[in-house]
Amino acid sequence: MKHIVILTTGGTIAMKEDKEAGGLVPAVSGEDLAASAPGIAELADITVADVSNIPSEFMTPERMMAIARAIDSRAGKADGFVVTHGTDTMEETAFLLETVLHTEKPVVLTGAMRGASALSADGPANLLDAVKTAVSPGAAGQGVLVVMGGRIHAARDVEKMHATLPEAFQSPQWGPVGTVYGDGAVWGRRVLRRPRIHPERLIGPVWLVKCAAGTEADIFEAAVASKAAGIVVEGFGCGNVPLGADRGIRTALAAGLPVVLTSRTAAGSVAREYAYEGGAGSLEDAGAILGGSLSGQKARLLLMAALGAGLSREEMRPLFRD
Ligand code: ASP
Repeated sequence: MKHIVILTTGGTIAMKEDKEAGGLVPAVSGEDLAASAPGIAELADITVADVSNIPSEFMTPERMMAIARAIDSRAGKADGFVVTHGTDTMEETAFLLETVLHTEKPVVLTGAMRGASALSADGPANLLDAVKTAVSPGAAGQGVLVVMGGRIHAARDVEKMHATLPEAFQSPQWGPVGTVYGDGAVWGRRVLRRPRIHPERLIGPVWLVKCAAGTEADIFEAAVASKAAGIVVEGFGCGNVPLGADRGIRTALAAGLPVVLTSRTAAGSVAREYAYEGGAGSLEDAGAILGGSLSGQKARLLLMAALGAGLSREEMRPLFRD
């Protein structure tokens, strides 16, 4: 039987309704969580370790790095890992783990959209599905995965697309990599992996700026003035920005800040389609890094990791490409 380590970090999967507080609060220990999913002990030898019990809004890049270290330090004694996590930042932690982990053992993140005391709590089934995925031979080489609502997603692709529904998680660019059905995982495709990097620490702050019609240069100038380590821009469409933002980005590049250009659309990639001012092509020529199909929040973590690994701007570019 395989040995799976469940690391619990918190989130709705570990929360119950508190009448006095008027909402969900952290309440469930890792052991109780594992006990809530009958059948888990028949699938694997389970060890549970509580890392934290926080809402994932309180997750930070540093805490994500601590989870990566917790996984790597146990990798010699485990066949795979399940990380329970709040859904709000699950895609960010999954992506950072996929970026920096040393171990190639399966790592599967899961959580719940409904609290443990809800009539139709989805946490126990998600946890069971995550363990089924972690023990599946097909998980080898697929990198860090997110299992929610019966679907298996690659860390690079997955996004929380709905605020409240159990089927909130989707991979809008390429679709899920598999499903969990019956006894185990059913795989539909192999994940196209990227080289990992292994920074000792992340370097920030990296500002994330979302463009809207009329976004001006001031926010980029503020990033330079506050000594940000870099900026990720969510532009329009295939990575184009308003004229004011274009000016601000050029100011930041001239000040030596790395600037990564992503798209605020949910799917598709940044591309050199337009050559006029504000177009991704002219910004790349000015030194900006094109962020491929990465969301702004994932590109921000990748830039922090790449800076931490001491990579030059040219060495970073391929990490962001599709
Ligand atoms: N706010 C919660 C969290 O991310 C949401 C959830 O877990 O579903 O911690």
